[in-house]
Amino acid sequence: MSFLFIRLNPIKLSPIFEKYMSKPSKFFERQEERDALVNEYLIPNGIHDPKVIDAFRIVPRHALVGTKAQDEAYQDYPLSIGLQQTISQPLVVAKMTQGLGIEKGMKILEIGTGSGYQAAILQELGAEVYTVEILALLSFQAQKNLQLLGYTNIHFHIGDGYYGWPSMAPFDGILLTAAPDQIPKPLIQQLRNNRKLILPLGKETQQLMEVRKEGDNFHWDNLGPVSFVGMVGRVDS
Ligand code: SAH
Repeated sequence: MSFLFIRLNPIKLSPIFEKYMSKPSKFFERQEERDALVNEYLIPNGIHDPKVIDAFRIVPRHALVGTKAQDEAYQDYPLSIGLQQTISQPLVVAKMTQGLGIEKGMKILEIGTGSGYQAAILQELGAEVYTVEILALLSFQAQKNLQLLGYTNIHFHIGDGYYGWPSMAPFDGILLTAAPDQIPKPLIQQLRNNRKLILPLGKETQQLMEVRKEGDNFHWDNLGPVSFVGMVGRVDS
């Protein structure tokens, strides 16, 4: 009598598959809508960095907006997140993210946690994220939602983002997601040399500005008109 032995090799999963396997169920919902957002709005409007594109295909924006706004989560416009605040338009979040040229391990400071969507995108790209929100309730809500999604490498601070986060400086990039009419000085000090600060600048009308710190000088690029909520706190007084 002869036996046939079949040796089974352990199955090797592709790294992408393994990455998805460890994600909560929210990541498996609404993939088609996320792909449509990327294909129809982001790529045709200048988003070309493959890593940024992947992050927008992955992060479940619908899990970070309230239940009322979930059906509109993948339209390219801002949505209300309560307390008169908005989650920014995906194309603008993508432009700001792409502008920073994120590499794994970069320390990024975000002013205006809001829903936590921008922070999740940054962590998906491998950044170490520090995010400051002036409204405690919004920060708590974002902390809870991001935790449920497994975004655990995000550091939260409740306070006035005018002052940045001096004990964690310097940063490899700074994003403001609320508009001041001039750049808060502490933020410039907390930015590493040759790195960028990206912000909506202005009161009634705003321009998205990319500011590179070059020693004591700055190189300014205007990325076009935008509409963010105004920055409150010290900068407004
Ligand atoms: N990045 C967010 C969108 C933020 S909307 C997202 O991805 O959803 C702007 C946020 O900035 C609001 O939550 C508002 O409360 C906050 N904000 C306004 N002024 C601020 C300040 N001085 N410091 C920190 N946060 C501020």
